[in-house]
Order: sequence, then C-alpha cells, then structure tokens
Amino acid sequence: MSYVSEVLQGLEVKFASQPEFLQAVREVLTSLAPVIEANEEKYRKAALLERLTEPDRQILFRVPWVDDNGQVHVNTGYRVQFNNAIGPYKGGLRLHPSVNLGIIKFLGFEQIFKNSLTGLPIGGGKGGSDFDPKGRSDNEIMNFCQSFMNELYKYIGPDRDVPAGDIGVGAREIGYLFGQYKKLSGDYCGVLTGKGLTYGGSLVRTQATGYGLLYLTQEMLKTNGHDLAGKTVAISGSGNVAIYAAEKAVQLGAKVVTMSDSTGWVYDAEGIDLDAVKEIKEVKRGRLAEYKNYRPNAEYHTEGRVWSVKCDVALPCATQNELHLEDAQALVANGCIAVAEGANMPTTIEATEYLQASGVLFAPGKAANAGGVATSALEMSQNSERLSWTFEEVDAKLKDIMVNIFRKLDDAARRYGMEGNYVAGANIAGFEKVAEATLAQGI
Ligand code: NDP
Repeated sequence: MSYVSEVLQGLEVKFASQPEFLQAVREVLTSLAPVIEANEEKYRKAALLERLTEPDRQILFRVPWVDDNGQVHVNTGYRVQFNNAIGPYKGGLRLHPSVNLGIIKFLGFEQIFKNSLTGLPIGGGKGGSDFDPKGRSDNEIMNFCQSFMNELYKYIGPDRDVPAGDIGVGAREIGYLFGQYKKLSGDYCGVLTGKGLTYGGSLVRTQATGYGLLYLTQEMLKTNGHDLAGKTVAISGSGNVAIYAAEKAVQLGAKVVTMSDSTGWVYDAEGIDLDAVKEIKEVKRGRLAEYKNYRPNAEYHTEGRVWSVKCDVALPCATQNELHLEDAQALVANGCIAVAEGANMPTTIEATEYLQASGVLFAPGKAANAGGVATSALEMSQNSERLSWTFEEVDAKLKDIMVNIFRKLDDAARRYGMEGNYVAGANIAGFEKVAEATLAQGI
C-alpha cells in the first residue's frame, strides 16, 4: 500500500467523527501523491505525513458568559496550534454554532499550506467557539469575548500564536479580545490581527481576502487568455469576504449579480447594489431579505443556491461545502469558465473534480483566499516596526503576493506534469516549504 493510502486509512479510523478534517486531509494528500511517491522512503521513515496531520497541540476550554438577563451560558472554546515549522501559528477564530473540533482541525490543516503559499513566515493554526453571535447585543458579545480571552491569553503571543477573524469575528470582536488580552497580560503588542486602525490595525486588512481573491482570479484568467472586465460574476455569502470580493470585481470591470446569507439569496440582473448590502450586513447586521426594500426589481429566494444563475465566474465566499456536484453541473451548463474559492473548502471534492474535468479554471481557497492572512502578516510586520503603511503600499504588496501565489501554483502544477491543475499546484507548492522546514528541524 502506498504511504499516502496507509496514512489516510489510519486517519479515517482514528477520526471517523471529524468528516471535514478527513475531507481536507484526503484532498491535500491525494493531490500530493506524485511528490510523496518521489520521496516515499525518506518521508515514510521520518513519519512526515503523520507529523503534518497531527496538530502540535489542541486546546479546549470552557467559556462561561452572562447574557443581558443575567442568565449564565457555557460554550466550548478551541485553539488548534497545528504546525509552526515556518513561523508562529497564525489563523482566525470562528464563532458559529456549527463549530466543533473537526471543523477547527480542517481549517487549521488548510491554514498550514495557505500560509506557506503566501511566502511569509507564518505557521498554521485556527480556533473559535460554538457560540452563536446572531441576535446578541454588543454587551453580550463583549462578555463572551472577554471570557474567551480569559483562557486563550495563556497560549498566544506575537511570536507564538497570532489569531485573527473568521466567520462571526470582525473588527468589533477583535477589539474586545485585544482589550482583554492587554488587561490580562499588561502587554501592548501585535497578538491579534484585524485590529482597528486606531490601535495597530493595518489598512486593507478588512478588504484583503476579497480583494486578494479577485487579484488571483484576474491573474488566472489572464494566464488562460481571458479578461475579468465585462464578465458576469456570481458570489455567495454577504460577509467580509463576499462584500470586498464584490467591490473589487466591480472595480475591475465585472458585474456581480448574486449574494447570499444563511437564510436566502438575491439575484439582481442589473448588478448588486453593494452600498445596500453593506448597510444591511455591516451596519444593521440584518438579513439579506431586506435587499428588496432597496432594489424592488431584484429577486429574493429562500430555496436553492446562487449557482443556478448564468455567470462566467463563480466565487463561493460563505462557508465550507456550499457548492455541490449539482451546482457544478449547473455552472458548467450555463457556460461558467472559472471558479475561485473565497471561503475555505466551499466546493465538495466531487464538485471540484467535475469542474476540473469540464475544463473550468479552478482556484482552491488555500491559494485564492490567502490575501487575508497575508495582510495579517503585513499587520504583524507593521506592529513589530511600530509603523503604519499607506493603503496604496499595503494594497500593492497584497497584489504582488497574490500574483506570486498564482505563479507558484502554475509552476508547481507544470513541474509535476499537471498543467492547469491549480488544486495540485497549491498543495504541492504549499507542502514543499513546510516539509523541508519540518525535516530540517529534527524530531
Ligand atoms: P462572515 O461571518 O463575515 O460572513 C459569512 C457569510 O457566509 C455570511 O453571509 C453568512 O450568512 C454566510 N454563512 C455562514 N455560515 C453559513 C452557513 N452555514 N450556510 C449559509 N451561509 C452561511 O465570514 P467571512 O466572510 O469572514 O468568511 C467567509 C468564508 O471565508 C469562511 O469560509 C472563512 O473561513 C473564509 N475566510 C475568511 C477570511 C477572512 O479574512 N475573513 C480569510 C480566509 C478565508 P449570515 O449573515 O446569515 O450569517
């Protein structure tokens, strides 16, 4: 049995209750097969794959907090410090009722290779809680964040582990978390990224994942003889990634016709009114159903998904496993030429394989959404230097990083005779650096 199959089989038995983690590992290891086979004896002896798939440590803790009526609630907090071969652990915190250890492990595992692809010195980690922020007051959010940090602060630090935002964690939550860290440790340092601009945040961090997604998509299209200008784009989600992906898509001359949230989706044939979406989601923290109040001609659906709409480019930007095989079939039937993942693992393995087999250009999340963490690393650099770079400086660096990431994918895929397979390219390019650093540092 090949080394990859042997490791996968072992993990499938041991972590049967963590399907998302197994899905992520299977996807990465399968596409790494040519690289592993070329070094099979060396890697097997060093148990390299076992070491890469077992986190350095997994921290679970109780998060008790009090709601506005005086009721006490208890949630579970997680921080998985997966791999620090190439730098301090770096990865977001997710607050969503679906969070469990398997989901945090899948995200942390992906983060290792994503961070490696950025070319910056950051390792992989992820954390969060099954706390549901929906409908909670600012005071309740603050209570939760403070309690979460009461435990987390023991394990993080600017040279150890630097968390950031993810689903349910934006500037407001990072502010409360940072305030509590400072109070507990007495240190004013770059221990979190995604901070507000008045206290160490970086310009462009808010926009970075969405903008970066479009910079990479544009490069992928250009390399394959297409131009983003004039294209119709379908986007899912209406959170941080989706909103700034839509903003950059429009700046680059495309038309965005869909957005969604967890209760429904809108189709606006004239092009999404982004100011309306920002007001609904960023200011009012409301539901996308309200979009029709701003644009009566738009359609609002509670059934189905955005992928049924005719588009040239599809950008899934909501959550994992939100683009299934039947969605991929609909996209291909409607003439879609490119899919780039803004979210982490939004496309199922079957859907990814179908899109690739149908000739659709496919950019995996670990490359396409790396702009967020890359800009977080730029925030860490500015914090260490006690400097703030201008919007234009950070944006130019982000663009350079995304173009370079695409070059790395393209090059790695070609080196292994898989031209145009950017999934394999991303996994191989991300893996090579981490594997070398891990082996160099001994057992
Ligand atoms: P937000 O919380 O800002 O937005 C998430 C969006 O997706 C919301 O519109 C939300 O709807 C929707 N959504 C969340 N969960 C579900 C679900 N189970 N079913 C349907 N819709 C859902 O998160 P982000 O934009 O920050 O993150 C989106 C994705 O991008 C995630 O996969 C995240 O891991 C990934 N990512 C984020 C980065 C960042 O910098 N923020 C960096 C790299 C990746 P609703 O409003 O109803 O909750």
